[in-house]
Amino acid sequence: MTTNSELQTRRLAATPRGVGVMCGFYAQRAENATLWDIEGREYIDFAAGIAVLNTGHRHPRLVAAIQEQLGRFTHTAYQIVPYESVVTLAERLNALVPISGPVKTAFFTTGAEALENAVKIARAHTGRAGVIAFGGGFHGRTLMALAMTGKVAPYKTGFGPFPADVFHVPFPSALQGVSADDSLAAIEKLFKTDIDPKRVAAIVIEPVQGEGGFNVAPTALLQGLRRICDAHGIVLIADEVQTGFARTGRLFSMQHHGVEPDLITMAKSLAGGMPLSAVAGRAAVMDAPAPGGLGGTYAGNPLAVASAHAVLDVIADEKLCERAAALGERLVGRLLKIKESNPALAEVRAQGSMVAVELRDAATGAPDAEAVARVQAKALAQGLVLLSCGMYGNVIRFLYPLTIPDAQFEHALAIVEEAFSA
Ligand code: PMP
Repeated sequence: MTTNSELQTRRLAATPRGVGVMCGFYAQRAENATLWDIEGREYIDFAAGIAVLNTGHRHPRLVAAIQEQLGRFTHTAYQIVPYESVVTLAERLNALVPISGPVKTAFFTTGAEALENAVKIARAHTGRAGVIAFGGGFHGRTLMALAMTGKVAPYKTGFGPFPADVFHVPFPSALQGVSADDSLAAIEKLFKTDIDPKRVAAIVIEPVQGEGGFNVAPTALLQGLRRICDAHGIVLIADEVQTGFARTGRLFSMQHHGVEPDLITMAKSLAGGMPLSAVAGRAAVMDAPAPGGLGGTYAGNPLAVASAHAVLDVIADEKLCERAAALGERLVGRLLKIKESNPALAEVRAQGSMVAVELRDAATGAPDAEAVARVQAKALAQGLVLLSCGMYGNVIRFLYPLTIPDAQFEHALAIVEEAFSA
């Protein structure tokens, strides 16, 4: 039997260090919220492939849908020989996204690609170049997406120069003393100091910052962005790659705010583990690029599209939005309880089941990434995989499958409590 440590040695020799890998064990198989490594050890998966598995590992309905498609065809290149499932999926998403009036959807493969294409579409629609994004935001690792990403190390280090005309303003944070008004004022200031609003194509925002630390955008910020975009003819892009598909207790996080973006990017849990991303948006904006301007060899891959149809069915039939809200509430309750006796828990943040806790040194208030690493290690020793995030790596995020059985969820919460105890 190959061991984890043998594979670790081979991995370090065969693949570059730039692809950072969190776990030192290797996956053998997985089922719903459980995964097993090649040595037979069992883990509760609270990483869910970085927010991809809202419907769990190998949901039987996803497996059946992929198998059915596998028996018919796996690739024609949609732009060469199209197929019905893409049209139907676009129709379903058009009806589901929180944008009124005619909507169209284009499919791609990765989250970064969705962001790249959203910018292309906004530029084609407005005839402008500028993009405003937020500090701490994450939009992907391709060069334009990286330009919009608001965190230097490790993502941008050594990779510049980046495309021009991308600007960052602070994201609201109670802990850092930044209000929604401060963020909006920073944009108005940008219009004075850096770029004429008439040259701005798009403002891009994650309604809950993912990699940046699960910072929840206040409704006032999103309303303010909508006002600014309307005043200057700017396209508002909601990056729902991490927030989408029931994670926050609604299908899309923007639905919590009653603010309509012009474009929505989605990926990750859209296809439950198959590579698929999309940009949905107002038809007039989506139709700006000329024929042939959008696409990709694998864009709208038939296996991934089949899986996405099953994801939408499972979310509706298993009421995963309601379940996300209920599970999130339970977890937040437990974290707040731990916080009462542990001052290192500086803030518990949540929208539905997008839950995080920020750790700071109780004495100095400094971000404490080492405490996060300690909690992660203790949880992992008990078989619970936890992810970190945040500008300073001092936030633990919880991204369990929404389909996790109750008893297993309860067991995981007990491990979390134990990991926080001294
Ligand atoms: N946007 C957001 C909000 C994300 O969280 C991510 C991935 N973490 C991306 C874009 C990029 O997605 P991908 O890794 O599929 O390119």
